[in-house]
Amino acid sequence: MKDFSEMKRIVIKIGSSSLTHSGGGINFRKIDRLAMVLSDIKNMGKEVILVTSGAVSAGMSKLGMVERPKEMAEKQAAASVGQCELMFIYDKYFSEYGQTIAQLLLTKDVTTQENLRRNACNTLEALLRYGAIPIINENDSIAVDEIAYGDNDTLSAITACLVDADLLILLSDIDGLYTANPSADPDARLIPVVEGFDPKLYDIAGGSGSKVGTGGMVTKLHAVEIAFEKDIPVVLANGAVPDILYSVLSGKFTGTLFAPKEAGTR
Ligand code: ADP
Repeated sequence: MKDFSEMKRIVIKIGSSSLTHSGGGINFRKIDRLAMVLSDIKNMGKEVILVTSGAVSAGMSKLGMVERPKEMAEKQAAASVGQCELMFIYDKYFSEYGQTIAQLLLTKDVTTQENLRRNACNTLEALLRYGAIPIINENDSIAVDEIAYGDNDTLSAITACLVDADLLILLSDIDGLYTANPSADPDARLIPVVEGFDPKLYDIAGGSGSKVGTGGMVTKLHAVEIAFEKDIPVVLANGAVPDILYSVLSGKFTGTLFAPKEAGTR
């Protein structure tokens, strides 16, 4: 695996629970801080790609929906309102830090259809060449899968593979992978490093612990498996304070590093 200081192309995924308050409203302070840190990291010479959840939550709060809608059309309506809102907020903050952002709404077809994959790759490469910060979400308003599985963890791993990233960082509402689901087992301990992928890890992964987060640890492990296909290391860390990204990039952080076994040859 490359040294952290040599990692240039970084994909960062942030979950809904890190962008919204527990009542569902947008957490402006958090998004502002995230935009500041990502802009700063980009100014340090890194290439930054953000994969963001939060469209449904943002839409719910704008449309005055109190509970996450169960009906697909309603969820997708919330997603389409929320996606605008989310990008508006990101644009406002990133602009303050002198950055140009770009929205990419991907569907899972990028993995199965070669022409789509190539186009997505080329677009991302062009955006990075021009110094823009691509902000990616799944096309929630038409992608039935995403709404059903709520799985931007997978999308972030697919994105990392598309651009051949040096590192994928999953920012969650938890410090990392624990020996058991900490919300169910008070004796659960943080696992700082996982080398290679053992499917037995799925045995310790429970579902989502929050109302707005939908993936849980299972989809994070799935993301690790996808990233490892291209020997991309993955860090799982707590997104409560976006400044943790500085620590991650220095290689000294609280979290879980998933290191591909035979990396170093890339
Ligand atoms: P986010 O959307 O912020 O990524 P998720 O709710 O999808 O958050 O996933 C994180 C949640 O996964 C944790 O809050 C925790 O409740 C749950 N979880 C289940 N098993 C584990 C485990 N072994 N280690 C850590 N968290 C776990």
